[in-house]
Amino acid sequence: MATALLLKSSALAAVNRRTYVRKKVLYLLLCTTSTSIEKIDQFLLSKRLWINEKMTLQRDMAPASNKQFVSGEAYPYLGRDYRLKVEHGPFAPVKLLQGRLVVQMPESGQQPCMIGNSIVRWYKRQAEQKIREKIKRYAPIVGVEPAGVNIKTFKSRWGSCTAKGELEFNWLIMLAPNRMVDYVVIHKLCHLIHHDHSSEFWWEVGRVMPDYQVCREWLLENSEGLLA
Ligand SMILES: [Zn+2]
Repeated sequence: MATALLLKSSALAAVNRRTYVRKKVLYLLLCTTSTSIEKIDQFLLSKRLWINEKMTLQRDMAPASNKQFVSGEAYPYLGRDYRLKVEHGPFAPVKLLQGRLVVQMPESGQQPCMIGNSIVRWYKRQAEQKIREKIKRYAPIVGVEPAGVNIKTFKSRWGSCTAKGELEFNWLIMLAPNRMVDYVVIHKLCHLIHHDHSSEFWWEVGRVMPDYQVCREWLLENSEGLLA
């Protein structure tokens, strides 16, 4: 039986490996040695919608570092894609205008790194605002009050809770759907009560967000693409 798709090749070292290239997409499929090619084809066909969804999600969630910073490029923000529009003019902070992410700067300043920095500053400003709003909304429900809230860049996590009771959040969470930001905020707030991932901690998270498991799984699946 075929059992898994879209795994990294390192994860396949010890198992039988078949590699498929279709429409320039590389699929890695785990299967037993007795699985026939017809069975594999059938399996791939039956899973094609799921595969396409995963590929689209991975592509959409590619980190800003893969970008060219040119007009027309899509930037995810709270689960939606916004097209970038680079305009000539005096320097102005990035704005979300009529569904477009508008960068305005003089032609001489329009180097990819400057546009990129400007976009990152925009994401950070949004994170400051949205996360503070969510803290205000959820802190009384959890029954805690953080000593402070800071937005940071982390390479491999969504946030942290300091010994002083301050919460720190990774601005990259703004690339994920809004509900994921809710979950990360609630998760961190609950750490002010329980500093571990004990069953008591998860009970507390579930009390505030009964469907937290969906968000947890989504982030487990997509964090690598977002944080890379
Ligand atoms: Zn945690």
